[in-house]
Amino acid sequence: MPRTDAVLADPRLASAAERLGRSVVKDAVTRAQQRAREGEIRPEEVADEAVAALPPHAASLRTVINATGVLIHTNLGRASLSPAAIAATAAAAGPADVEFDLVTGARARRGRGALDALAAAVPDAEGVHVVNNNAAALVLAATVLAAGREIVISRGELVEIGDGFRIPDLLVSTGARLREVGTTNRTSYDDYAAAVGPETGCVLKVHPSNFRIDGFTGSVEVPELTGLGVPVVVDIGSGLLTREPLLPDEPDAATVLRQGAHLVTASGDKLLGGPQAGLLLGRGDLVERCRRHPLARALRVDKLTLAALEATLRGPTPPVRQALHADPAVLGDRAAVLAGKLAAAGVDARAVPSEATVGGGGAPGVTLPSAAVSLPERLAMPLRTGEPPVVGRVEGGRLLLDLRAVPADRDDDVMRAILQVSR
Ligand SMILES: *Cc1c(COP(=O)(O)O)cnc(C)c1O
Repeated sequence: MPRTDAVLADPRLASAAERLGRSVVKDAVTRAQQRAREGEIRPEEVADEAVAALPPHAASLRTVINATGVLIHTNLGRASLSPAAIAATAAAAGPADVEFDLVTGARARRGRGALDALAAAVPDAEGVHVVNNNAAALVLAATVLAAGREIVISRGELVEIGDGFRIPDLLVSTGARLREVGTTNRTSYDDYAAAVGPETGCVLKVHPSNFRIDGFTGSVEVPELTGLGVPVVVDIGSGLLTREPLLPDEPDAATVLRQGAHLVTASGDKLLGGPQAGLLLGRGDLVERCRRHPLARALRVDKLTLAALEATLRGPTPPVRQALHADPAVLGDRAAVLAGKLAAAGVDARAVPSEATVGGGGAPGVTLPSAAVSLPERLAMPLRTGEPPVVGRVEGGRLLLDLRAVPADRDDDVMRAILQVSR
């Protein structure tokens, strides 16, 4: 077995160590030595094997192709950034004028470019602020408006966001008390009116963004709630800033503000299509109180997020919105071309109609007509662990690679990945 030091002296691995760091390269060598010990490769192949197995960068996170048909997949990091946002992030990675005015040489408002872009995108908001995520925006709003007091909230809106995290627990962690009103399926204006009193810090409406209740239901809309004489906070969840005709039931910030909401909170990495962030929009004095609260410092976003958010707001249509608006006929053509080429290469592949969803990020119950390449189920694992990793979904004993969330310029990569694992 070649010694580790001797393998690491290979010029290809020595230069990789400068690029990726010694420990990353050493791990690749150790794995190659292990394979040689197990007889999978010959000892003289260890260096070649280590070179072939080097990761593209020093972090273990890998870029995957989302062929699940779930546009906003939380396990896959939600929205993918637009090329414009990726470039902005790279530009901000070094020293950057995030909190500095290059003309005067003095300190400047942190993230003013992103905040100005957000204000321009939602003219109905007097004030805007950005924090780490929507959960942070809710914590900040609840702390500022209702710590030690009550948050009036409908029992139909006590939402679990995911991975065991629940909005009611989050709210209570701020020292606010929940005053639950109504029932799971129905809450009326009178329920709210009876609960509002001197102890009320705010009324909170939470959009049920990952479930739907049908049947005998009733809830109170924002315009009515604003008549209660207390601040009305609305968590719209998905981060639509303006109405999206394809998703008529999904609330948007502009409409909710025009209806009189005092504060709106939303995520940056759902339907907005940007980086993980929490948006706070609304009445100037309330946003300012949020911004000035000591907790705001603990929840603030870094320059990379600010850069990506600004580029998402000002730049070209981000991938999530492109996927949402993709033409089903074009998706069908893409699936047919892929399946045709694969079948010609002897792969058991066919193009099939499919149904995509927005995902936990919004629009529960909405399906989007889509198209998929149907493959043998046994390819699921090899495709997930191949290069690039392709993640599909298994349905009816077949692996479906749904193309709605796959950018068209990745079709060739998808095909190569399939050919590789089919051999
Ligand atoms: C997704 C979601 C949240 C949590 O947002 P994060 O940005 O993940 O913190 C909160 N409320 C609603 C309604 C949501 O849909």
